[in-house]
Amino acid sequence: MRRRLIAGNWKMNGLRADGCALAEAVVAKAGGAAATSDLLLCPPVTLLADVAAIVRASDVALGAQDCSAEAGGAFTGEVSAEMVADLGCSFAILGHSERRRLQGEEDAIVARKVARTQAAGLNAIVCVGETADQRDRGLARETVGAQLAGSLPEECDPGALLLAYEPLWAIGTGRTPSARDIEGIHGFLRERLIARFPDAGAAVRLLYGGSVRPGNAGELLSADHVDGALVGGASLDADDFIAIALAGAGNPPGRGDP
Ligand code: PEP
Repeated sequence: MRRRLIAGNWKMNGLRADGCALAEAVVAKAGGAAATSDLLLCPPVTLLADVAAIVRASDVALGAQDCSAEAGGAFTGEVSAEMVADLGCSFAILGHSERRRLQGEEDAIVARKVARTQAAGLNAIVCVGETADQRDRGLARETVGAQLAGSLPEECDPGALLLAYEPLWAIGTGRTPSARDIEGIHGFLRERLIARFPDAGAAVRLLYGGSVRPGNAGELLSADHVDGALVGGASLDADDFIAIALAGAGNPPGRGDP
């Protein structure tokens, strides 16, 4: 049985004082939410060490927002998977659409990052999602299917893999697909995962991301094939983040599975 995961992606937000205060508030309020969901915070890399100390004895896990495709060496400004693991991370978000779009990260780079991340003992959360134009042209499945195929390395370990379906047009816009649309894409991704990993594809957690808020989380998290959420803006408020986790509490993941 897959356990729900609610992950907060803080993006490039937070100096030490407010980042620590936010992490402390999430830990303090986590109780009931953590009983039914795994909770994960992904602060900027500058806050990983501080937040690691805050979440250490709690039910809240720590993740990085990215890591390098390289193991180490002369790569100025890069941070390796081993380095974030050393700080206490157990997850890394990879191939987020903002990195694909703004940093030109292509599937092949994401696949190398997944390999490095898993080799360092971390769980890789691989993001896929279509643009509004691709959706309007009926290319959503084709797009996420190609991203999925290209972003997983040959040696991918499905036991340390999660997928986040994040339609680009829903990120930070307040717009979301209908629960039915999400079920369609997640069901398709589940089929692709089982085709690629016949023994383990059914256990890979599928997150939805894009304008998840306390007011829509109940509906989005109750959609078939949805095992949790990747939350951007709303994760910057501890009450909203916990409310999102609690909103899904009545709907165990796994509904709609083949
Ligand atoms: C994201 O960028 O991963 C995201 C889901 O953002 P938001 O929740 O703000 O739409």
